[in-house]
Amino acid sequence: MNFTVRKKLAKCRTGILKVGIKEIETPGCSLYTRSGAVPHLTSDVLRTIADLPSAVHLSVQATIDHPGVESTRKVRDCGIKKFLGLEEFITYLSIQDPTQELREGYNEQKCVSVFTPGGRRKIDVNQFITMLEVFQPDIAECLCDTVLASKQTEKRIRKSVDRTLIFLDQCLEEMAKKALDSCNLLGVIEGSSSEKERIRSARETSQRPVAVAERGCALNINLSRKRLKPELNYSPPLQQEEETENKSLRDNRNHSWHEDEEDKGSVFSCDLSPIVNGCTCYSCRNHTRAYVHHLLQTKEMLATVLLMLHNLHEYCQFFSHIRWSIEQGRFEEFKEIVARSNFVS
Ligand SMILES: [Zn+2]
Repeated sequence: MNFTVRKKLAKCRTGILKVGIKEIETPGCSLYTRSGAVPHLTSDVLRTIADLPSAVHLSVQATIDHPGVESTRKVRDCGIKKFLGLEEFITYLSIQDPTQELREGYNEQKCVSVFTPGGRRKIDVNQFITMLEVFQPDIAECLCDTVLASKQTEKRIRKSVDRTLIFLDQCLEEMAKKALDSCNLLGVIEGSSSEKERIRSARETSQRPVAVAERGCALNINLSRKRLKPELNYSPPLQQEEETENKSLRDNRNHSWHEDEEDKGSVFSCDLSPIVNGCTCYSCRNHTRAYVHHLLQTKEMLATVLLMLHNLHEYCQFFSHIRWSIEQGRFEEFKEIVARSNFVS
């Protein structure tokens, strides 16, 4: 795995992260999955979206029960990628599901806890290595004792760093024994709210033969649970700030509507325009806000499919525009347009 800078500006850059023969463009995002599937979308429908990220995000928490090690093992030597039909993607395996609340106080000296619908599951080094052997992810976050920044004592934070380093050493040793060369292991920087411990964690981790991931950075995209709920996100008609070549900096004003907001919802009941005027996603090309509103009101599954298609399309385009604006040396301009339109609230 190696990273090449493609274009560098004062405060940002674009680059390519090469993983084997595949590449991840940065800044970018990964596809969030639950039990190996993008929520609400089938594999075929997913592939209709343009500019899909090249990486998919799996987590131990969301895959340990389904599909699980035993089911995946039946597809001999092919790993979770083939099992899930995600062969063309780079797979990244984290320990915790970033959309789920992290429960504190359940990690132990020799294991890390993840919570699934079936209850608490303890993962030790041997189980984790078995998952790597069977799943064969391209990149995996190492087993780590993560603690939240709130209400942590210095002693507990120090213990979290120590445990994480021990997990890392044990995993590296086991991976060497089993010749797991195809998996790129990411060492995790812990340290929570303690700067001193974060520095110690970074220094110690960087001395091991691994790539380093700071908690909450790297390939981790934290999707809020709200984003996965039925929700109508739309922008007013696009304001083309300036058309250059094939792309334009777009006004990404964002307004959202929730099922429980009846006053706002009634606005959409007779609205025959697409979710976003000018959007090229399947939902906007073929359906109207009124139809999506009706589907939500009647709790049709198609509502979440159409909204996920649109929202994912917008998300992919957003990162594509960020990269393009950096390449063109116009990132500050793009940032101003986004800030002015209250996209980031
Ligand atoms: Zn759309």
